[in-house]
Amino acid sequence: MKIHKNIIIGAGLIGCHIFNKISKNSLLITGKTKKVINSRNIHPKIKLKLKKNTTKFSDLIYSKKNDFYIYSSSEIGGLSNYWGKQFFNYQKNDYWPKSIFKKYSSYKKNLDEIDKLYPSPQQNIAKNIKKNNFQFIQINPPILRKPLLSKNNILRKYKKKILEDRVISFKKINEKLILVKTEKKILYCRNLILSAGPIGNALILIRSFKKISYATFKDDNPRMIFGFRFKKSNNLSSNNKNLVDLDIKKKNKLVNFCIIYDVNPYHFSNLLKKIIFFFKDILGKYFFYGQFWINGEYNEIKIKNDKKIILSATTKNKYNYDTRSVKNLNKIGLKVFKILNLKFAFGFHYHCLKIKFNGKLFSINQFLNNRKLNKNVYCFDSSVIEKIGLKPPTKTYLATANHLIKKFEGKFK
Ligand SMILES: Cc1cc2nc3c(=O)[nH]c(=O)nc-3n(C[C@H](O)[C@H](O)[C@H](O)COP(=O)(O)OP(=O)(O)OC[C@H]3O[C@@H](n4cnc5c(N)ncnc54)[C@H](O)[C@@H]3O)c2cc1C
Repeated sequence: MKIHKNIIIGAGLIGCHIFNKISKNSLLITGKTKKVINSRNIHPKIKLKLKKNTTKFSDLIYSKKNDFYIYSSSEIGGLSNYWGKQFFNYQKNDYWPKSIFKKYSSYKKNLDEIDKLYPSPQQNIAKNIKKNNFQFIQINPPILRKPLLSKNNILRKYKKKILEDRVISFKKINEKLILVKTEKKILYCRNLILSAGPIGNALILIRSFKKISYATFKDDNPRMIFGFRFKKSNNLSSNNKNLVDLDIKKKNKLVNFCIIYDVNPYHFSNLLKKIIFFFKDILGKYFFYGQFWINGEYNEIKIKNDKKIILSATTKNKYNYDTRSVKNLNKIGLKVFKILNLKFAFGFHYHCLKIKFNGKLFSINQFLNNRKLNKNVYCFDSSVIEKIGLKPPTKTYLATANHLIKKFEGKFK
């Protein structure tokens, strides 16, 4: 019987980063599945990323009640996107999970290490507009054309230490041994690192512990906005042709993050594409659409432990920032005429996994501690982030993982 020192579940951003750090004694399980999955109802942006319908999902759950899919995929997300930072260029008093970094300087230090490891272009300020109590900061985001952390390079470099398989469940055999069941194999390890993202981790835990009644996690939820442009003189700078990122601050605090897109034919169905293409210039001059995130607003998604998995979601917005923020876009020449309240964001920023067990709600690492697994089983990925604000979060997740892997380094080497 072969016993691995460390097994890392999930080859997402965090899994890959951790694997890079401790590859010598580790096996990485990618999540690639043999299951055939019908992905008809997947969000268009995700389809675009995957190029075609796919079977590359580690897990996909459909809620009949909500007519909505959540998925855990091995191929998309931050790997090919703009790896935003939460508040690198912002104030210390932005939302932050204090339990992980006690000080801003610690976050900054870890972020600098991540930037050094995976260098990327930085965002910069294109325009700064002040109107009454509001400040609008137009940012040029560093859109990445190719992934910073190339999974293919990792796969090539450490071929023998990577298993293309999907984890079903795990079990503690004794103080020093964990059994991991995959689609194809039974494996053993001393340390298990869960990095399958909140959905992946939730499902692995639900399959491993029959007494879990449900797992729940948050999703920072953007609204869609549609509108027209006016007051040209006041408008934003045109540095970036296709989109504008906008921070809206009030009393120096970030309350709203907004992405404004020019009308783009490729965002539309095949039927409309040609028409939009034809009228592109005129549409682009007068109309826009976009997404905006509101501080304090998120959906909660629950996966129950019955055979049919049920989803439910609640939207929390304590401060009613939505109408106020939208109204304030007027001040810079953007008149919103329609706000689309999405019931769910489509899995862009999942975080904060909680487990309901024996009537109590635990964070994932508290749960592992409660089950006396804290000496062998760890979670370092986006599931452990308590709060996230408005910006694309991935660099913050990486900085968090970087901090945690250093903390437990001795165990894994
Ligand atoms: C369409 C889209 C666009 C996004 N754009 C941005 C952006 O521009 N900027 C930004 O900062 N963030 C963006 N994000 C968010 C970003 O993708 C996440 O923050 C990031 O991927 C989280 O990293 P993670 O490692 O915690 O989880 P994931 O990247 O989700 O990795 C989890 C991994 O675990 C694997 N897995 C799951 N279940 C199992 C199992 N049972 N067995 C084995 N493996 C398993 C999965 O296949 C996956 O590879 C985007 C997300 C999406 C979906």
